[in-house]
Amino acid sequence: MSVAARWAREELEEISRRGHLRALEPLLSPQGPEVIAGGQRLVSFSSNDYLGLAADPRLARAASRALEVCGTGTGASRLVVGDTGAHHALERAAASFMDAEAALLFNSGYAANLGILQALCGPQDVVFSDALNHASLVDGCRLSRAKTVVYPHADLEGLDGLLSSSGGRRKLVCTDAVFSMDGDRAPLRGLVELCRRHGAALVVDEAHALGVLGRAGRGLSEELGVEAEVDVRMGTLGKALGCFGAFAATSARVAELLLNRARPFVFSTALPPALCAAGEEALAVVRAQPSLREALWRNIRRMADGLRALGVPAEPRSAIFPLVLGAPERALEVAAQLRARGVLVKPIRPPTVPEGTSRLRFAVTAAHSEAQVDQALEALAALEVRVAA
Ligand code: PMP
Repeated sequence: MSVAARWAREELEEISRRGHLRALEPLLSPQGPEVIAGGQRLVSFSSNDYLGLAADPRLARAASRALEVCGTGTGASRLVVGDTGAHHALERAAASFMDAEAALLFNSGYAANLGILQALCGPQDVVFSDALNHASLVDGCRLSRAKTVVYPHADLEGLDGLLSSSGGRRKLVCTDAVFSMDGDRAPLRGLVELCRRHGAALVVDEAHALGVLGRAGRGLSEELGVEAEVDVRMGTLGKALGCFGAFAATSARVAELLLNRARPFVFSTALPPALCAAGEEALAVVRAQPSLREALWRNIRRMADGLRALGVPAEPRSAIFPLVLGAPERALEVAAQLRARGVLVKPIRPPTVPEGTSRLRFAVTAAHSEAQVDQALEALAALEVRVAA
């Protein structure tokens, strides 16, 4: 056995002992409200395809046209010879959609969060990060080498105290807009106010809010009318927009700094133009079809009402509904019971969520029918284990 394989065996034994071992399971169908997995046809509540665009033929056609013309690969980072008109077109479309001065593309939301924090902050600075922020913001703090202060989840008073007591050259606050595993929203108006008072920059990850919140679907910053006061809004193209890649919507100056300094931007091959074309089409679809967001919100309200009727606390605040079960084994067991009733919802365990809070995370989409939402609720009602908090 190789040295690394021996290490891996030891680590895997430990992961398994804790009930955290994971494995892949390929879908045998396109992404959508109904999928085929493990030989079963299942109604899925585990994708972030909030507007049902991941398998939309309009996006596929846009990608296919660009693929024919441009081929598959870019062969270099954008700063070398990987830059194309398709990248600039998508950046113009993203800036316009987000009502921002500029947008800079990244290869994923994960890469964008790393790059944004690392480009803006260094070892002399302090980053304030919500305790429930996504792993990509956590890793962005690490890559920046700034001092990182984790503030209690959504706690404005706590953050105020920490901002007052921390030194450092520059201060930056970063937060998920909608928290990915809980579905609640950041207290963004309060954060804007605190940042203004303390002279701090504010970075907001709109991953689960883009396409979901705001009149135009620009996210929580739009919904709360604070877009002009957020320094950088990160939007991923991989969730509600049904594509892949991400952008930082920001000022022209910050975009220029990111382009020069964000390591995931500088040191990685550019996105394929075909994906840029699909992303541009997705933005156009979201702009032209507010009915998608309306359908999503009908399902969000139906799910929230149905869960409450089952005694599960739920509010219509985003597309995400957590069912916190505690031990990882319980999450696995309840997921298996739901699956036996034709409902696919993958258990979420540490390190994605804190120890003792393993859960099922239901995400509804615009593409679910009322009957499919009801099927999930009926499957929950029929569970052999009690789930109510
Ligand atoms: N931020 C949040 C809050 C997320 O949930 C995710 C994806 N799970 C990302 C960033 C990363 O985005 P991407 O999938 O485009 O890398």
